[in-house]
Amino acid sequence: MTAGPALPDAAQPVPVRPDLAGVTPYGAPQWDVAVRLNTNETPWPPPQAFLTRLAERVQGLHLHRYPDRRAWQLRTALAKRFGLPPERVWAANGSNEILLQLFQAYGGPDRRLLLVRPGYSAHPLLARVAATPVVTAELDDDFLLSASAAAAFVADHDPALVCVANPNNPTGMTLPLPAVRALHDHSRALVIVDEAYVEFGGESAVALLDELPRLVVCRTFSKAWRLAGLRLGYLLCHDWVVDDLRKVRLPYHLDALTQMAGLVAVELADEVTGHVAALSRERDRLHDALAALDGVTVWPSSANFLLFRTAVPDLFDRLLSRGVLVRDFSTQPRLQGCLRVTVGRPDEDDAFLAAMKESL
Ligand SMILES: *Cc1c(COP(=O)(O)O)cnc(C)c1O
Repeated sequence: MTAGPALPDAAQPVPVRPDLAGVTPYGAPQWDVAVRLNTNETPWPPPQAFLTRLAERVQGLHLHRYPDRRAWQLRTALAKRFGLPPERVWAANGSNEILLQLFQAYGGPDRRLLLVRPGYSAHPLLARVAATPVVTAELDDDFLLSASAAAAFVADHDPALVCVANPNNPTGMTLPLPAVRALHDHSRALVIVDEAYVEFGGESAVALLDELPRLVVCRTFSKAWRLAGLRLGYLLCHDWVVDDLRKVRLPYHLDALTQMAGLVAVELADEVTGHVAALSRERDRLHDALAALDGVTVWPSSANFLLFRTAVPDLFDRLLSRGVLVRDFSTQPRLQGCLRVTVGRPDEDDAFLAAMKESL
């Protein structure tokens, strides 16, 4: 028996891929505080009817078998809502997984992804995991994007991919559809519109799908569908996109429980999303209450959260010490002094407003 060569430093950890060396893992704090308004979930749990029906359906699942790889029942149910064939709908573990799959399928080291700033922090992170270089285009001073600016961005950078959240996060503002169209028509790119919040307001690009051959629209069950504890998102697209995503998805990527839960949610869509109108009204109430505070600038929002700016440098900590957790953007480029608050239950929002008044 011959021993292998002595390893120089057997206890050394394996270095991570060099292009991931500086990465900070994604993650808003999950702290146990009284009022958690930092991750844009819906404050009310899904209705009892959903849990009851799901519990019944779980009885019939064959968990000793792999799940349906195509998630056909779920995709068919989703497709029906949009008048599309199921071949044009894809589903995965949250819209973040779908975005990663899109970047894996269409990105890579030799292809650029165009993102806007301020934008969603997970987009550049997913791009990095998919080894896809990012070019960043700045939104204007009001955090808006005009059609002419959109056309110039893609003309300047010639990206292979464009990804914008609409309504945008963390600003809450809508990117008008002419800007989406300009991103498409002045580029060769796959244009991804991330509509995580569209049920709360704004303008959906779904109506443009048939007109714009390289447009895809990504949706999630994590926000308006109040199922963030599930991991489920879906994509509306052309059928060739689904063919390509099947090349990068993991075998049996979407488990049987998630598929079933999604199907039951779609069956009970009216009940599951029944709170959306009230939540949008609550958002408008919270907006006006914030706007009425001295020293607070708040942006208009079409989503279930509000971005606001103050001159109090430690406002995040002051709110936290009063049991209110919001999202801190105050040291980020373009967002100096900004915090983002998720619209919660009226009592949670009142607690936030009271903490604001004490902290300012
Ligand atoms: C919350 C959010 C999502 C949701 O991601 P999931 O993986 O579906 O939970 C997607 N995009 C944006 C912009 C978001 O803010």
